[in-house]
Amino acid sequence: EKAERLQKVIAQAGIASRRASEQLILEGRVAVNGEQVSKLGTKVTSHDEVKVDGVPLDGREKKVYYLLNKPRGVVTTASDDKGRTTVVDILSDVDARVYPVGRLDYDTTGALIMTNDGELANQLMHPKGKVDKVYTAKVKGIATMEALAPLKRGVVIKGKKTAPARVAIEKVDTDKKVSFVTITIHEGRNHQVKDMLQKVGLPVEKLRRDRYAFLDLVGLQPSEYRDLKHDEVKRLK
Ligand code: URA
Repeated sequence: EKAERLQKVIAQAGIASRRASEQLILEGRVAVNGEQVSKLGTKVTSHDEVKVDGVPLDGREKKVYYLLNKPRGVVTTASDDKGRTTVVDILSDVDARVYPVGRLDYDTTGALIMTNDGELANQLMHPKGKVDKVYTAKVKGIATMEALAPLKRGVVIKGKKTAPARVAIEKVDTDKKVSFVTITIHEGRNHQVKDMLQKVGLPVEKLRRDRYAFLDLVGLQPSEYRDLKHDEVKRLK
């Protein structure tokens, strides 16, 4: 009988991401065979009964997958201490306990996967997964390929060099002195696109994620979401 780490078993049951599952354990919300476990490192087999907040894992939720066009003015967490609307609130018709795969800033719009599949979420968020994310940024200033060139090599942000990005100029409005730039990255550091463009002197005024992996926003207005098709889920895995 295969013994697996408790946090992995909780994540696989679709309760939370791996890291959030560790947090559940540390918060003392997990019990194994009726005994509270609040330290990491416990291993369990399928014969052990695991409960989170008193609810057995094998009341297992069916895995669900959605693509949301996140609107502006919404936080990408399950709950917000300031009481702001969250992406989970937008999917209030969904019964499953879904959560976002990665993050978009409060004022950023665009493609965001929501799921209760902790394993897929972990895999997609792992740096080695190298999922391409395509953003369109409205920036202040006149963008030129010379100005953007450093981003193709990588720039140092908070002491760490970014991986090479692909960049293109969509449009330059010389009257209004704004430009629209498309940038493709596979990393997902906090505020990364804003920081990268700021670094080359083009501060971001608006940011939208047009694509996550192969999933684009076709047919989705901000706040709208759709089920991922079976073959789309397969392609992500
Ligand atoms: N980069 C940012 O700066 N913000 C986002 O929301 C996503 C990527």
